[in-house]
Amino acid sequence: KLYNQVQDLKGSIRVYCRVRPFLPGQSSFSSTIGNMEDDSISINTASRHGKALKSFTFNKVFGPSATQEEVFSDMQPLIRSVLDGYNVCIFAYGQTGSGKTYTMSGPKELTEISQGVNYRALGDLFLLAEQRRDTFRYDIAVQMIEIYNEQVRDLLVIDGSNKRYPFFHEWNSSQKGLSVPDASLVPVSSTFDVIDLMKLGHKNRAVGSTALNDRSSRSHSCLTVHVQGRDLTSGALLRGCMHLVDLAGSERVDKSEVTGDRLKEAQHINRSLSALGDVIASLAQKNPHVPYRNSKLTQLLQDSLGGQAKTLMFVHISPEVDAVGETVSTLKFAERVA
Ligand code: ADP
Ligand code: MG
Repeated sequence: KLYNQVQDLKGSIRVYCRVRPFLPGQSSFSSTIGNMEDDSISINTASRHGKALKSFTFNKVFGPSATQEEVFSDMQPLIRSVLDGYNVCIFAYGQTGSGKTYTMSGPKELTEISQGVNYRALGDLFLLAEQRRDTFRYDIAVQMIEIYNEQVRDLLVIDGSNKRYPFFHEWNSSQKGLSVPDASLVPVSSTFDVIDLMKLGHKNRAVGSTALNDRSSRSHSCLTVHVQGRDLTSGALLRGCMHLVDLAGSERVDKSEVTGDRLKEAQHINRSLSALGDVIASLAQKNPHVPYRNSKLTQLLQDSLGGQAKTLMFVHISPEVDAVGETVSTLKFAERVA
């Protein structure tokens, strides 16, 4: 038992990397990916002047051919620990187009095989809860929010109104330490419920964005899963929650090229991503001062970052030569928090 606890503490921050494959129609002749091992990756940063390999080490590296199932099965123990009362945060980081949404949700045309982490995670929690039903009774509820320009928006409102789902208050009053007390909290009991809610969330998220102005790449979205378990013999309650966060694109925008709203957005994104990096880096270094208050995201997740909580930073990179600058800065970000 003690050994497990020590392991848990030691393993509380993990960093994974995933390389997106070339997309249909892209030429795969020039890739920036050098060597790939189970836990390391090297990037070719040279332009015309031969090779210059930069190497990075993480807990795990997934190459372009890794399947959604492989990725999920590696994270499964982490996800399952929510049912034991742990708090878990999983972040998808990377430049726009690198595969964050693919990992967390899946591609646009979703099939069972292409389902991302959030669908699989909930399906797995339902399954495990069912397996434990002789000893535990679990209730599971979800929230979905978006953070745009440091403002929080509830994504589970019906028809863009403020209409709440039933049971909201019941859950709310029994649930302590809610990360976003005002956002709809919807009980779920099957993967069908989850798929419906995700659809609603994605629909609400698209409101206010046009084809030319895809806001989803410039806001953070967070699916939070709350779990409450009652031990049927002792009556004891345990609570855990998991945050699945699809972060805003990490690409630097050229300040000389953008103005107005776009510049403001970019500054908010830069600031909140570096605030997140600062928090995770200070947790990794066991620094007694953790600067949670520097962004909305880290404020909201404060109870689920640090302490007994478990964090997975999942960074995404694109293989294209054009992306090499962002790729290296993404990997440097990841190295700093590892
Ligand atoms: P991001 O959310 O980081 O902006 P997306 O997840 O939208 O990036 O991915 C960009 C494109 O690449 C999408 O068309 C997506 O379906 C595709 N894609 C990303 N990762 C993979 C992958 N591992 N396998 C196949 N296609 C992928
Ligand atoms: Mg995305």
